[in-house]
Amino acid sequence: MKPRDAECHCGGASPLKRPNAKAPRYGACCSRFIEGGAFAANAMEMMRSRYTAYVLGNTAYLRAMWDPATYPPDLDVSDTSTCWLGLEIKRHTPRATAQSSGRARA
Ligand SMILES: [Zn+2]
Repeated sequence: MKPRDAECHCGGASPLKRPNAKAPRYGACCSRFIEGGAFAANAMEMMRSRYTAYVLGNTAYLRAMWDPATYPPDLDVSDTSTCWLGLEIKRHTPRATAQSSGRARA
């Protein structure tokens, strides 16, 4: 379990994030989805939480948030030796409804 006062791995990625902006604390960012059972309000929050789950090696969270029809049956991210470099969200287009779309590159 990641300390809640540590920087969140997602870095608070956003197309609007200033270059020198501090990363949010994990406890105020992705932990509410990964550990708290909250649902992401938009695609950007979902992408951040998925990226953080990859870094944390949390396969269970990724499976829970992934359509079973499309996720790889052998999905296993528990090997945390992968060096994740960061998340950059290039664009996010909020919609009037609860759904939104976005593109990201990790
Ligand atoms: Zn986060």
